[in-house]
Amino acid sequence: MPHQAKQAIEIAPRVRIAPSPTGGLHVGTARTALFNWLFARKHNGTFIVRIEDTDRARSTLAYEKAILEDLKWLGLTWDEGVEKGGKFGPYKQVERTDLYRPFIEKLLAADLAYYCYCTPEELAEDRKKMLASGKPPIYVGRCCALTKEQIDAHRNKGGAAVIRFRVSRTDISFKDEIRGEMKFHGNDFGDFVIAKADGAPLFLLANIIDDGLMKISHVIRGEDHLPNTPKQILLARALGFPIPKYAHLPLLLNPDRSKMSKRAGPTHVGEYRKLGYLPDAIINYIALLGWNPGTTQELYDRMALTEAFTLEGINKSGAVFDLKRLQWMNGLYLRKMPVKELIPALRPFLPEHAKKVSAEMLERVFLTIKERISFLAEISELTDFYFSEKLSYDSALLVWKKSTAEETLAALKATHEFLKKLPEKEFSKAETLELSLKTFVKDTGRSVGGVFWPLRVALTGKEASPGPQEVLWVIGKDQGLGRIESAIALLE
Ligand code: GLU
Repeated sequence: MPHQAKQAIEIAPRVRIAPSPTGGLHVGTARTALFNWLFARKHNGTFIVRIEDTDRARSTLAYEKAILEDLKWLGLTWDEGVEKGGKFGPYKQVERTDLYRPFIEKLLAADLAYYCYCTPEELAEDRKKMLASGKPPIYVGRCCALTKEQIDAHRNKGGAAVIRFRVSRTDISFKDEIRGEMKFHGNDFGDFVIAKADGAPLFLLANIIDDGLMKISHVIRGEDHLPNTPKQILLARALGFPIPKYAHLPLLLNPDRSKMSKRAGPTHVGEYRKLGYLPDAIINYIALLGWNPGTTQELYDRMALTEAFTLEGINKSGAVFDLKRLQWMNGLYLRKMPVKELIPALRPFLPEHAKKVSAEMLERVFLTIKERISFLAEISELTDFYFSEKLSYDSALLVWKKSTAEETLAALKATHEFLKKLPEKEFSKAETLELSLKTFVKDTGRSVGGVFWPLRVALTGKEASPGPQEVLWVIGKDQGLGRIESAIALLE
């Protein structure tokens, strides 16, 4: 039985992703985007994309552009946000600095936040001591109750470094939509930094103010943000924002269950795009990373995903990223692609000298390797022999394992003779060619391997390739005979 939403979603949800442009679109962020997108589509909600670029040193416009391009390429278009606009803009944090200021002032005025004058050396020393005594390294509270005189003294010396939030030492619990009841305590993290002394907010604060002002109803994000959630709940309460519902998605893992890294395969959507993966295949594959539809169905288009998707169907445990599976799925999608779309998509991946071949030829080429290709960039290696003037290979490759050089030479000569006499029209179908060749094998008392192997190598120069009948069908009689002649010359 597919999972059913346990609870109806009463209001149209407002969900978002907030990528930081400190790199391209990570596969994990793409999956987070997809789950938010599906959730919004399913419940007639709004999917928002905003850019979290408070980290000025690491954020770049080029990454921001790349992230947005890759989201669009995946078809994860948004209803509101950067480029698109909306009622709650601007949607880039650098453009929202003035919006954050009053919130910080409000916290300071209510004594829910305070200036901290601790030096990095003091903080490092505190940390060392706490770790040595087996405690979690939280802020010791040196500046949490300074007198006016102490503050003045600090100011005279050069001023504050940061602004800290005063954490109430209580239980903080919330229900995660995926993980159930979650419980934290203020003592777990102590008073944390929310802004630089000049009022520039840090991620935790800017992020929750954005969620509040943008009326985000559900925060669906990676599990790596789970430790941030209790802090942000305290901030939301202090700022007077309603607490959104939270759903933390399981991490993506390498096959050895460590956190996903390049070992598992390319980590960014842009890399897959360059290799000629199809957006529909990527969407289908990443949807199943951590989401369990509750059936054995594996192939889903966007409509089917939208229908079947529920937050309840998301697993708690990490999801292993399996490149082989993605390749298999991409191969399926490639084979399903209409030829009209496929041919132009293939062309950029061909070797330079082959880029001008006719669409008809390219279609034939593709048909001979379609069962073996899993992404478009493989086309070059799988088909380069079709486009070479002269093949280069070792003559030993021509000799089938159960044959000898003499037998091979004789077989190639006889095959050449036979094919030469075969009318041109016999070459217009790989199946009939195969039948003719098999009859020839039988009539001359040879073995299939003894004829087909050297013929195939003569035509392709490769250890593995499509069958000789298919290659002849693509390159035609004249070129085929020419290649066999070269092989004979090589053996002689
Ligand atoms: N900027 C954060 C990230 O890229 C997103 C945080 C969030 O979704 O709340 O991981």
